[in-house]
Formats: sequence, C-alpha cells, structure tokens
Amino acid sequence: MNQTTKKIRTRFAPSPTGYVHIGNIRTALFGYLFAKHNNGTFILRIEDTDRARLVEGAVDNLLRVMKTLGIVPDEGFYLDKNDQVKERGELGPYLQSERLQLYQKHVLELIEKGRAYYCFCSEQRLDELRKEQTALKKPPMYDRHCRNLTKEQVQLEMEKCRSEGRNPVVRQAIPEQGQTVINDLIYGDISYDNSLLDDQVLLKSDGFPTYHLAVVVDDHYMEISHVTRTEEWIPSTPKHILLYKAFGWEAPKFAHMPLLLNPDKSKLSKRQGDVATEDFLKKGYLPQALINFVAFLGWNPKTEQEIFTMDELIKEFDLINVHKSGAIFDINKLDWINGLYIRNMEVGELVKDLIPYWRQAGVDTEKYTEKYLESIALLERERLKKLSEIGDRTHYFFARPEYEAALLVWKKRKSAEASGEGGSDAADAKTKLTMLAGLFETLNETRLTKEDLEEIIKNFIDEHHFDNGSVLWPLRVALTGLEKSPGPFEVASTLAIGLGKTEIIKRLKIAVEKL
Ligand code: GLU
Repeated sequence: MNQTTKKIRTRFAPSPTGYVHIGNIRTALFGYLFAKHNNGTFILRIEDTDRARLVEGAVDNLLRVMKTLGIVPDEGFYLDKNDQVKERGELGPYLQSERLQLYQKHVLELIEKGRAYYCFCSEQRLDELRKEQTALKKPPMYDRHCRNLTKEQVQLEMEKCRSEGRNPVVRQAIPEQGQTVINDLIYGDISYDNSLLDDQVLLKSDGFPTYHLAVVVDDHYMEISHVTRTEEWIPSTPKHILLYKAFGWEAPKFAHMPLLLNPDKSKLSKRQGDVATEDFLKKGYLPQALINFVAFLGWNPKTEQEIFTMDELIKEFDLINVHKSGAIFDINKLDWINGLYIRNMEVGELVKDLIPYWRQAGVDTEKYTEKYLESIALLERERLKKLSEIGDRTHYFFARPEYEAALLVWKKRKSAEASGEGGSDAADAKTKLTMLAGLFETLNETRLTKEDLEEIIKNFIDEHHFDNGSVLWPLRVALTGLEKSPGPFEVASTLAIGLGKTEIIKRLKIAVEKL
C-alpha cells in the first residue's frame, strides 16, 4: 500500500511499571491528537515483557488516568462505563505477554534468514567482557562470540546449555558494514554506522522477547503508520529499522519527541519534584487544564492562543509543530492554566469538585447549605490555583478561627492618630471591635449582603472619623484569624449566609476578650 493513502494509526505502548509519569501522558496525548487530527486510530498496547518490572494494578491505574483525561484508545485496552478493563480491536491481543508465540515464530524466521543467532554465552562471560571493555574505555557491546557457529556447533552448544538447565538467548545479527538512516519527522535524518550497533538480544532465555523485537513485530502487525515516542528511543530506532528490513516489512514513520526538562534543564524525573499524573489529579489540577498544559510540552500552535479544549487541540495539532529542543516543565505555568480553568468554572460545578477536598480537610459538607458552599467557592474562585488548597483557605468558614491577639492590631495605625484617639493600639482595636459588635446587633438579617455591609460599615467609619484600616483590619482578623484572606465585607456576608449574624457577633466578642 502506498504510504500517502495509508490510514493513520498511532499507538501508546507503555510498560506497566507503576505510576503514570507525566511524560507518558505527553507521549499518549501527542499520539492521540495526531491520530484524531487525521481521522486515524489510536491504539493502546501494553508492553509487559520485562517481567521483573511489572507492578500489580498499574494497568488499571493507567487506564483510569487516561479516561479521566479524555485520552480514550480506539483499539487495545480501555475502561468501560463501569470502569471495567476491556480490550477491543481486530489486531490484538494488545498485551505483549499474550503474543509470545508470534515473537518466537518470527525469531525463528530471522535465524533462518541469518539475521539472528543463538547466543550461549554465560552471564559470567558477558560480565567479564563488559568489565574488559569498560577498562579499555570502549562502549560495552557483545563481541559476537556465538555469531558464526556452524549448525553442528549450535547443536552441541544447545545440548550443553540445556543440560546445565539454561536456555540460550537469540541475538540480532547487525550488518557489519553500511549505515542505517532514520528519517525522523521531527529530528530529520539521523544516520548510524552499523558497525557501532550492538547485536542486542531479541529473545531472552525465558522465551520472552525483548522490547526491540516485540515493538517491531507489534507495530507491524498492528499496522502502525507513525511511531510517536520520546527521543530516548532514537538510538534504538536503527536496530528497529534493520529488523523491518530483515523481515522485509515497510517501516512506519518515526516521530521522536523532545524530553521533558526541569526549569534548570536537567531531565525531569521522579526524584525532582512530583511527576506522577495521578498525583496532579489528586491535588486538584483539572483534567482539561492538565491536558492543555501537557499539549504545550514540546508543541506550539505558532499562534498566541494558549487555552485549548481537547477538540481545539485535535483541530490544531500537527507533528510539524513539535520542536526538537527539550520541553521545560514549569509548574508555575500549570498553576496559571489551572487557575484560569477554575475561574471559568460555573460555581455549582466548582462546589461539586471542591466537596471531596473539603471532606479531606475534615469539613462535613453535608452540614452546610448549597448556597453557603457556593458563596465560599465564589470568594475563592479568583484565587485558587488548585482545588486542594480549598481546605486551608476556607477553614474559618467551618470552624472558629484560632489566632494570636496581636494579629488583631492594625500595624499601620499611627498611635494616637490625628483624630485625637488616644490609648494603645490594642486598646484601639478593642474599642473598634466592641463598637462593631454593637453595630451588628442592630442590623437586620436581610441587610447583610456584601454591598449593604460595605455601605453600613463605611458610613460608620465616616461618622466617627476613623481610619478605614483601624476598623476593617481587626474586623477581618476577628472573622478569619488570618493575616491574608478575602475582604471583611465579603467574608462577613458569606458567614451570614451560612452561620448567621450571631456567629459574626460571637467572633467579634471573642476577639474583644482576647484583647
Ligand atoms: N514500552 C516502551 C516504553 O515504556 C515503549 C517505547 C515505544 O513507544 O516504542 O516507553
């Protein structure tokens, strides 16, 4: 089939080795966007041939994260409506450990063609070889000791090996001369001298293929048109291209993507900060915000637009606009995008999303009215960077605040100010708070909106020729116990909605007592 008419088929092929690194999500997303942009098919294949690294539950976890983020495979594994793991598609199985016979069959084919060979070398011999090479400052490579054994020698070695209870491995016979060129869609042409490529293992002694063999066989049989993966895999690609040639198959196109870097340009890894996608979701980064952020890790639409829905990304995404230089992972940018998405949320929806975080912070949300929770959410909507901050920022709406008396004193007050007020700063705060408590006593419950309170309290300040801060600071602290919070009118009107004016008066009196 002609390349230009070939249907676009991409795959994400993770190994289920634990948490979902944010870099994996970037790989998945780019493969997904490219397929969708081209009306193609996006496949999820699980590469579980490295048995020692498997982690129980990793596939479920991965599928959950992908579903939450809206990256849903057309073929391979996915979670259904009831979050059950399902597999679909004609070209499966999509789990490598269920394809062992296929790999074994293909390895035999390569051996027959002289493009692979049995290797009987013991671990000990290979270890010594590696040590020698390292001592000579040579790159560690297999010395091809078993490459040219005759059929009879192979037979003998095989018997010997088996009698020792071992199995041989099978290695790729890399051509000794010539060059292999990758025509990478992002990095351009990259050429490798075959003489520098290792005769790597294709089939391990446990009968499992290595990544190199399995990836080529699977990408071929799953009719992958474009391999999208990170640049770490570039050095493996010439070996893959040689395998395609050995099988007589047309290789897919390759598009390697830049690595994710920390702002200091070091490689982003688990050690440096938190990179598990599930943790980002737990902290209250919204799925759409996370997708929007991840899309920009190595891709740029070449316009000013920074906020994209998944549909807009699908429309705009092209591999041509993926760049080569490392993509900086800047958490501040994620916070910024997330804040923007939060600000655009409808308040009812925001409350629904905040409830689990309030619960985590020990708030029994059932005890409060929808209206109260909405009013609190509205106060914080402009400031929240992630949902998990809500507990710390709003605890005073659910429990009386604890704070030091000194916080009630307005620091900017010039003692015995021009209005002729005397006394210490603390005494001044005490007077103002007592007067405020009196003022609230006289207010009608229906006149406690933010606007009303602002008007009433400002009139009160004017009438007495007080300084704004000398009244508003202690009022706000008495209600919140915090150095920084939303303003006193907003806080008081919200408290009035949920807990009534008696609670406001109570807090003012507690403050008076503290002083
Ligand atoms: N299983 C490999 C990984 O874990 C896949 C690499 C590829 O896409 O070829 O990243």
